[in-house]
Amino acid sequence: MPVNQKIEDILDYIQKCSPGQDEFYQATQEVLQSLIPLLEQDNRYLEHNILESIVVPERSIIFRVNWVDDAGKRRTNVGYRVQFSSAIGPYKGGLRFHPTVNLGIIKFLGFEQIFKNALTGLQIGGAKGGSNFDPKGKSDNEVMRFCQAFMSELYKHIGNKRDVPAGDIGVGAREIGYLFGQYKKLTGEFEGVLTGKGLNWGGSRARKEATGYGSVYFAENFLKVYEKDLQGRRCTVSGSGNVAIYTIEKLYAAGAVPISCSDSKGTIYHEKGIDLASLKAIKEIHHKSLEEYASLHPDAVYTGVSHYPENGHAVWHIPCDVAFPSATQNELTLVDAQKLVENGCILVNEGANMPTTPDALDYLRNNNVLFSPGKAANSGGVATSQLEMSQNASMSNWSFEEVDIKLRTIMQNVFKTVYDTSIEFDCEGDLVKGANIAGFRKVADSMIDQGSV
Ligand code: NDP
Repeated sequence: MPVNQKIEDILDYIQKCSPGQDEFYQATQEVLQSLIPLLEQDNRYLEHNILESIVVPERSIIFRVNWVDDAGKRRTNVGYRVQFSSAIGPYKGGLRFHPTVNLGIIKFLGFEQIFKNALTGLQIGGAKGGSNFDPKGKSDNEVMRFCQAFMSELYKHIGNKRDVPAGDIGVGAREIGYLFGQYKKLTGEFEGVLTGKGLNWGGSRARKEATGYGSVYFAENFLKVYEKDLQGRRCTVSGSGNVAIYTIEKLYAAGAVPISCSDSKGTIYHEKGIDLASLKAIKEIHHKSLEEYASLHPDAVYTGVSHYPENGHAVWHIPCDVAFPSATQNELTLVDAQKLVENGCILVNEGANMPTTPDALDYLRNNNVLFSPGKAANSGGVATSQLEMSQNASMSNWSFEEVDIKLRTIMQNVFKTVYDTSIEFDCEGDLVKGANIAGFRKVADSMIDQGSV
């Protein structure tokens, strides 16, 4: 059977057995279709039915989370942990607490995580988890009680050699602390079962900064190939959470001018450059919306979501040289891509997971815009999580500079792996294909080595 037909059959099968899981289908479609050159060159993967196997999680755990709010009322949310692949190491991937979370979202994130983790060159398998719980508007005590209830089920399935969750949207240092405390209480073990921990109790320096910093390191490596750099470049960044803030911080260090940020309510355009101290205070300390930033900076332009372009996002309509989507999936659509091209953008560097829609990606490619896929460009976070696991295992504590140097080297290696793979398959600079093929090959070869388990 021709490879194309085989892939269509598998995608049909995924649609039939995962109805309504649009993001999961989108992610599998992108990965499988970009593997065609590899599958045509090496028939072992089809012979061993690796594609049919890799799109099914090894295990999906779905559980009820009952907790009590401040009014003393029982509240119920759904918890998930999808352990997708342990072919190259213990499961690893974040937890997302956001009202939009469902099984399809967690499966798409877990599937992407398999290949991302493989690209880091470290021994970590792929997983993802979370809940439709919304920490926004909840008191600290409510968040604590939710995290304790969530961990009361999750602890049965994780461990430092089995599955090591971390943060993602809605899960930061506070949530990791409450989750860790409950794990310790239930098991009696003080072990590196979560990453993103506080520095006093096993966390790694530079973990908080790692995804954003790593994203900028990746962009620098990519631009260097074409004898370009970030110096003086006007950069748009979306989001104003962990990834966005530390992307902005590292962009300043690289001599660039980050001119935007956004949240779920609106977008800030600050032509002279985002005031980082002010953004950190608003988001990390006071947890307020970006309207606060606009009121503190009258020269910044604030666009509320109700004024966004039709089917698009205000942040991508700001003229820029490089765009760093760093908020959430499918936040950069076709109309946005058209605007980026019109404004002369040279690189889209994904900090978030799958922020670019498939038609937007095609448009960027067809118009020769460089494109860094999230599974490569944002892999600095999970790589540094693995560095946290190493420090926990050896009971050591590395300095910020030591971790940052390792992160730089890892991002350089991730870029080289992905770029070299694009050359090997005659699509120089197509890092989507490069990342998918390189990540898949490592995991698939390991699956073949280990037999049909
Ligand atoms: P945070 O929760 O810290 O921040 C998320 C940001 O995105 C916030 O500004 C939030 O705005 C905005 N946002 C989230 N959902 C939506 C939505 N549906 N519509 C509009 N805006 C939204 O998350 P992170 O910074 O950690 O994660 C950002 C992205 O990076 C995600 O795709 C995540 O999976 C990915 N990622 C994160 C890693 C990490 O180490 N943290 C590692 C690798 C990837 P608001 O506050 O108003 O909701």
